[in-house]
Amino acid sequence: MEKKIGCYICTGCGIGEALDVKALGNVAAKEQKIPVVKNHEFLCGSEGIQMIQKDMSAEGVNALIIVGCSHRVKTEEFRLGVAQMDRVDIRDKCLWVLDVPEGNETAEEDRQMMAEDYVRCGCVKVKKMNQPNPFAASTPFSKDVLVVGGGISGLTAALEVARTGYNALLVEKEETLGGKVALMHKVSPARAPYNKLEENPLPKLLAEVKGNKHIRIMNNTVVQKTVGAPGLFDVTLKNGSATSVERVGGIVIATGYRSYDPGKLDKRLGYGSSPDVLTSMEFEEMARSGKIVRKSDGKPARRVAFALCAGQRDSSHLEYCSGACCTYSLKQALYVIENHPEASAYLIYQEIRTPGQMEDFYRKVQNEGGIFIKGDIGQVSQAPSGLTLEVDDKLLRQKAKMEVDLLVLATGMETTVDTQDPNSASPVGKQVDDLPGSVLNLQYRQGPGLPSLKNNFPDSHFICFPYETRRTGIYVAGPARRPMGISASTTDAAGAALKAIQVVESVARGAAVHPRAGDLSFPSFREEGCTQCKRCTEECPFGAINEDEKGNPLFNPTRCRRCGTCMGACPQKIISFANYSVDMIGSMLKEMEIPEADDEKPRILVFACENDAIPAIDMVGRNRTPLSPYIRIIPLRCMGSMSLVWIADAMSKGYDGVLLMGCRHGTDYQCHNVRGSALAEIRLSKVSETLDRLQLESDRVKMVEVNIMDAETLPKVINDFVAAISELDPNPYKEF
Ligand code: SF4
Ligand code: SF4
Repeated sequence: MEKKIGCYICTGCGIGEALDVKALGNVAAKEQKIPVVKNHEFLCGSEGIQMIQKDMSAEGVNALIIVGCSHRVKTEEFRLGVAQMDRVDIRDKCLWVLDVPEGNETAEEDRQMMAEDYVRCGCVKVKKMNQPNPFAASTPFSKDVLVVGGGISGLTAALEVARTGYNALLVEKEETLGGKVALMHKVSPARAPYNKLEENPLPKLLAEVKGNKHIRIMNNTVVQKTVGAPGLFDVTLKNGSATSVERVGGIVIATGYRSYDPGKLDKRLGYGSSPDVLTSMEFEEMARSGKIVRKSDGKPARRVAFALCAGQRDSSHLEYCSGACCTYSLKQALYVIENHPEASAYLIYQEIRTPGQMEDFYRKVQNEGGIFIKGDIGQVSQAPSGLTLEVDDKLLRQKAKMEVDLLVLATGMETTVDTQDPNSASPVGKQVDDLPGSVLNLQYRQGPGLPSLKNNFPDSHFICFPYETRRTGIYVAGPARRPMGISASTTDAAGAALKAIQVVESVARGAAVHPRAGDLSFPSFREEGCTQCKRCTEECPFGAINEDEKGNPLFNPTRCRRCGTCMGACPQKIISFANYSVDMIGSMLKEMEIPEADDEKPRILVFACENDAIPAIDMVGRNRTPLSPYIRIIPLRCMGSMSLVWIADAMSKGYDGVLLMGCRHGTDYQCHNVRGSALAEIRLSKVSETLDRLQLESDRVKMVEVNIMDAETLPKVINDFVAAISELDPNPYKEF
């Protein structure tokens, strides 16, 4: 169908008073040859929307340029079912960020120039767009969800999937379901008043899972390998010597945790040398048996000490806090206290960490007579009856010896997921030390495991995208994702189940999951131009691209998050999207007007990531903080999509400087596409070659890290860069 573009300019929100709207319309209609150009004083109101809809039905308008406010507001109003569309922001990023004193003609002129440039950009963008055709596979998509792991997290995830009407396939490597929770005597309180031990919730949960017709359970089964992509995962399952292949749409990994090996703990704690030193799990078993006794002689254990943080928050062992063991030890202290009126429970801690309502549980144990000692345990030795602990009491500032019957070590949690170096570009597939195999054994170009975020845990972006891994369609719940207790695991499982349902539904529509949720485009490439350089296959943050035997990329559209990193990486510029391409952005920046050098109006091009930098700039507008009128902002879907050719184009066109605003990267990265801004910075290190070739100063191009919360500091960053560029001579290419 032939494209017919309509450009609709809102004159509300002060736009009509501040700008020459007729001139804006002329830019669209006469200069850019947009066939339908109209104004409305309240475009997002029902009349304005009806005007657009009428043109769509009566005039055949099928591509839209909406000129007015930021694309981040009035989203629902302008959701008109049109894929080829751009929102041109002349309010938040122009009107609201420019200081235009009344009667100051120069400032008014600058404002008008900025708005006209943005209209030009919007027109070019939509002209360069093609209608995206949603990806449809040659074989049917599955909406079933595979849940790997039959502990409390996996059971909950399967049940949540099933309750929403989807089918769950629950795979457990052991003969029975339940995982570690099956071994528990009682559990910490999960409901008000949060001060009583509760019965183990597992039997009820198991009955529900087993009775749900949407859940298929396979015990004694492991995943041998996983090929494919969301909606199209083909998972080979191994049960004894039999194998079968199941197609699923999404995957939830809920394989739980491994307790830190107590054999690795410092010898002074006595594990292995005295039978009266136990781990929390071993003590749980003892409590469940109903006999809390000294193992050395079988006599009742009335004095039980708990060593919190055993091998945790310790650079020689686990550097992190497992979060749940304080609560767990409190629970076990109550076992001791409730077991006998004369029993004593000593909790030897660094800090007690009991978030949320667990504070009430902590108070309960205090009130019940739990004895809390802030300090370290030194040497533990076997006494004639029990153990002698040397304790360095940090509050009393004294060292003391205490006699106890048992010492329980609260060891930490390690993930059971095989993870790999997140920054490695080659398949490394590093296995966790004593893991017998990979959880999914992904047949991906970038390796069989899941990239880790911190401490080997397979999280992707703990702030914005909990449950996600860096493999689309694969989510992790419970302590396999990060250390957590039972209550948090069940919440986590519900979240991961929801994510899996989102992905199977999005895939079925041919749409992306976030951060570009709903985007119907996906990358395509011109095979004959490919030099098999492998940059795209190595740099894709989500492992979306495999390779054929010749080294050509094989895109998996349903794994793709549409970040454009491959597009920015490709030196041949042969990767593009229907609605995003190197040519599109290059044409947009070339379309803007560059004043003559004599005008003394520099032009600074700002490439801003749409995930953090654009919202931060919108906030600057909302705060009405002035920005330089000489900047021109082009949003990028991720800084990883930045092509160096745009820098060369900008310099050749006569822009005086280019400022790139990506997300924070490094260990605490904020980049929604994980590595996009880090890769952009690496690419940018080569920009000096371009600038040298053009005989331009390297200071003309700068990249900064912007956080979504940076609205207060961002104006200074932008304005200082403009000031620094203004100190340089104008770009000599203006003259050409
Ligand atoms: S757009 Fe992003 S996620 Fe998709 S293939 Fe390219 S780099 Fe990978
Ligand atoms: S980056 Fe471009 S040239 Fe290199 S392998 Fe990918 S498609 Fe081919």
